[in-house]
Amino acid sequence: MAAFNTSQSIAPFFRFAHLSAQPGLLHAITLRQRPGQPIHQSAYGSTDAPVGLLAYVAGADPLPASPGGGGVVDFNLGYRAVDYPPQATAANWRYLTAVLGIEPERIVAARQVHGNQVVRVGSADGGAGIRLQAWRPAAEWRDDAGPAKPPVAEADGLCTDEARVWLMNVYADCTPLLFYDPRLRAVAVAHAGWRGTVAGIGATVVEMMAHEFNTNPADLLCGVGPAAGPCCYQVSEEVIAAAQSAFPNHPELLNFSGQPSGHAIFDLWAANRCTLEDVGVLPTNIETAGICTIHRHDRFFSARSDGAAQAGRRFVAVIGLTI
Ligand SMILES: [Zn+2]
Repeated sequence: MAAFNTSQSIAPFFRFAHLSAQPGLLHAITLRQRPGQPIHQSAYGSTDAPVGLLAYVAGADPLPASPGGGGVVDFNLGYRAVDYPPQATAANWRYLTAVLGIEPERIVAARQVHGNQVVRVGSADGGAGIRLQAWRPAAEWRDDAGPAKPPVAEADGLCTDEARVWLMNVYADCTPLLFYDPRLRAVAVAHAGWRGTVAGIGATVVEMMAHEFNTNPADLLCGVGPAAGPCCYQVSEEVIAAAQSAFPNHPELLNFSGQPSGHAIFDLWAANRCTLEDVGVLPTNIETAGICTIHRHDRFFSARSDGAAQAGRRFVAVIGLTI
């Protein structure tokens, strides 16, 4: 079962149980709250009962200063966020790499375009798409500088078999997909919104890992992370048509019950599981977070729930081999 890691003072991140049990593997999905920051549920108006996950005890360890001061508390990692100072985002990135113990110059990010392209990367790609100036002296910071090294490609999936190459994608409602081949030791991350999901990006990752690393899909451990859930993810005709075309044998992925005409609920989580199972991933090796970002936007950024005032705030998923 998936769980927030509350065993350390640096909690909480979201982590998958089956991946957490793997030696030599690091993975994490960040939350809306900075690690170590007490949870203030009321700050986002959520009245949900905690879904069995909020074991973090406020005050158990020293509260780090708010990254930007002035009431900026969200652990936002998206530089294009509205109403969030880029220097505060930079501070969050510094905090993240320190807490995880990962080297910023070995993070690799792609330019995410809601497609199904997957790219194999390695050490030479380290720092791609990352604003490394965040780790340099503050006096050198420029808000508009951007990454010194451009993102590796227009892609929504990354894979590698090299140690300490940290694959990173950003999210706010789209589905984080994580992959680990424990036999041949390779990892991948993908970003599956509705477009990537109907384009089968999960299958493309599996095929790419088979091609590049000789991965047997039956060996893969996969995680379907927090994303827009089947409780909330209402879609309209364009998405309905695309989902019906992509999943002709799975009408259950669309639920028209109680929806206005021309609308349905699309089950992104199950759709991604179908895609993975269809290419040979074992159902028992797929762990689903089961957390909807739209109504748990108190814990995760959500493009739909956050609205225009907080547009562009992002959480990240990271995976990599530590050895
Ligand atoms: Zn929901």
